Amino acid sequence: MIAEREREIVVALCRDLVARGFLAATGGNVALRIDAERFAVTPSAMDYSVMTAADVCILSLAELARVDGDRAPSVESGLHAGVLQKRADCGCSVHTHQPAASACALIGEALTIDDPALSAILGARVPVVGYAPSGTGWLAGKVAAAVRPDVHAYLMLSHGALCCGVDPEEATARVAALEAAALAELRRRILSRREAGVGGARVLELIAEAETKRS
Ligand SMILES: [Zn+2]
Repeated sequence: MIAEREREIVVALCRDLVARGFLAATGGNVALRIDAERFAVTPSAMDYSVMTAADVCILSLAELARVDGDRAPSVESGLHAGVLQKRADCGCSVHTHQPAASACALIGEALTIDDPALSAILGARVPVVGYAPSGTGWLAGKVAAAVRPDVHAYLMLSHGALCCGVDPEEATARVAALEAAALAELRRRILSRREAGVGGARVLELIAEAETKRS
């Protein structure tokens, strides 16, 4: 089995993201650069709780050709390859359907990150990439076209989020910072509606609960 170390890192990264509520069941996917030509990516439609290093796929960055692994690679392999190719400084790319950021992806407006503690991790802005169906070259192309050197997190309209980082630790920190920024944005939107009423109060409670869980 080639790239055993990278495969193990992908498995550990997925377990961590599941434990923290950013990945669930078979949703989302993760990629890790091995070298200039190859990357490791999670397999398609496999529950993270049973995934092992042997299930992780090794693909070429340029053609998405299978280098090693028996499983079918994630349908979003092209999305990750595009990001890793445009961001030579990044070794890790994480796509999630994390709750608050995905809610913001449904709203479809870019996030401006005002909190200095979060902007230090995320950058000043999280843009929205226009809609394209999951697992398509169309989506991969739209995200790749949106990738900038100083933008480390992206919302994909009506779908979810993508964060990249130099390594899994930095990518995970950005996933967490994005969720915190998204929770703050949802709270801001509710508070700005004077007619929020009882339903709004309950949503604010749920946001506070989510923030406590993540702190
Ligand atoms: Zn997705």
